[in-house]
Amino acid sequence: QEDVFKKLVAHCKEYGFVFPSSEIYDGLGAVYDYGQNGVELKNNIKKYWWDSMVLLHENVVGIDAAIFMHPTTWKASGHVDAFNDPLIDNKDSKKRYRADVLIEDLLAKYDDKIEKEVEKAAKRFGESFDAALYRQTNPRVQEHQAKRDEIHARFVKALNDSDLAELKQIIVDYEVVCPISGTKNWTDVRQFNLMFSTEMGSTADGAMKIYLRPETAQGIFVNYLNVQKTGRMKIPFGIAQIGKAFRNEIVARQFIFRMREFEQMEMQFFVRPGTEMEWFKQWKETRLKWHKALGLGDHKYRFHDHDKLAHYANAATDIEFEMPFGFKEVEGIHSRTDFDLSSHEKYSGKSIKYFDPELNESYTPYVIETSIGVDRTFLSIMAASYTEEQLENGESRVVLKLPAVLAPIKLAVMPLVKKDGLPEKAREIMNSLKFDFKCQYDEKDSIGKRYRRQDAIGTPFCVTVDHDSLTDNTVTIRYRDTMQQERVPVEKLHEIIAQKVSM
Ligand code: ATP
Repeated sequence: QEDVFKKLVAHCKEYGFVFPSSEIYDGLGAVYDYGQNGVELKNNIKKYWWDSMVLLHENVVGIDAAIFMHPTTWKASGHVDAFNDPLIDNKDSKKRYRADVLIEDLLAKYDDKIEKEVEKAAKRFGESFDAALYRQTNPRVQEHQAKRDEIHARFVKALNDSDLAELKQIIVDYEVVCPISGTKNWTDVRQFNLMFSTEMGSTADGAMKIYLRPETAQGIFVNYLNVQKTGRMKIPFGIAQIGKAFRNEIVARQFIFRMREFEQMEMQFFVRPGTEMEWFKQWKETRLKWHKALGLGDHKYRFHDHDKLAHYANAATDIEFEMPFGFKEVEGIHSRTDFDLSSHEKYSGKSIKYFDPELNESYTPYVIETSIGVDRTFLSIMAASYTEEQLENGESRVVLKLPAVLAPIKLAVMPLVKKDGLPEKAREIMNSLKFDFKCQYDEKDSIGKRYRRQDAIGTPFCVTVDHDSLTDNTVTIRYRDTMQQERVPVEKLHEIIAQKVSM
């Protein structure tokens, strides 16, 4: 699995999807650039989300708020005081870790131990083996499970109480060692704020410390009444936004999974107080359906309900996707109560209550948030699409089985040879299709090589123009996944492609 991941990262670079940022200076930690194919895929993901939110829901509209916001925004949202990660250093290696991640790894070790015992026993007892019964009765498994439960309970309590001393104590009590130095020589745990800050205005006028937004949501909250009034929106309604967010992540690893500059697609849905749990449930289902509609495999998704709720939430779940390094969060769905709006009301001193004409009363709406990372979605789609195939003729190919609607290039148009009027015919076909589909013209190398190149970037259709095309106006269309070829009239191309690539 680790191997597949490495290959995927290399593939992303080799085929113009993702490059390390400022690579000629050896890169910048956890910052990446999208290349010529990456940007197309990313734009298609954003459009797919935007259309499903804003086109398909009459009561959801979009905005595009600035990255910079008045600094009081972040005081009111709780980010200045509470957007922290608990950090711990190993005194020998001088390496810095997130204390919560170290403890999660510790819990995962116990899960592994239990799994290994169960697998061993399954082998020993063969078909009659009942894993559930074994888990309940085997003393060794019971012992591991009890330890795991004990650590987990302490961990959840420590997180909820923001008890840094207890986090350290868990690390000490269970003898967590530094993966680099192998020692247990830890510092105390301290909080580290994840927001990037900078200064606005020159120092002579008294510069103001401002932050790069760590989430796009607050731009929606401070504008919700502007949108509600100017758009004559009635509750329940939603506001969607796509944009950059910035977090000074400490554990920055796993490629574009955890970046310091990334992009979010968020939707805040404003509801009557008391109805939020219904809407929370409904959005959970709607969002899971959206993911599954991509066709990457239903079994690759699962919900993960939160043990620890963020300072603003009364219910929260993640949609996790099976990445090459395990199930990981791609989207968070949170019931944020009236925390944000009430807090902005308090800090700004302005009334931002909604007048409900049906109830004939004013109130502060409750909010359900769906928040998905563009980059993590990108990674999940690439990971699920990357396929190495052994072919019947003994050769192998790498093919990206991207959902056709998201593929960077929809079709490649190829003249069989670079003469006899075939390039002109190919250009003519391309010109008739290029306003509706992203096309690529390719006349270099053998047809086989050209097919491989298109497979590697996930192009669903290749159209080959040969000498017969000049007389009977037909071409060969070749399908990426099946590699099947079909002779079709040029006039049919638009319909064939549109059928597969439209939403
Ligand atoms: P994590 O626990 O993995 O740090 P989070 O719970 O802090 O994530 P949210 O604040 O709920 O994440 O953000 C919503 C979404 O934004 C996440 O589901 C993820 O897809 C994306 N996201 C958050 N942080 C990053 C990051 N550093 N890099 C890339 N995407 C991110």
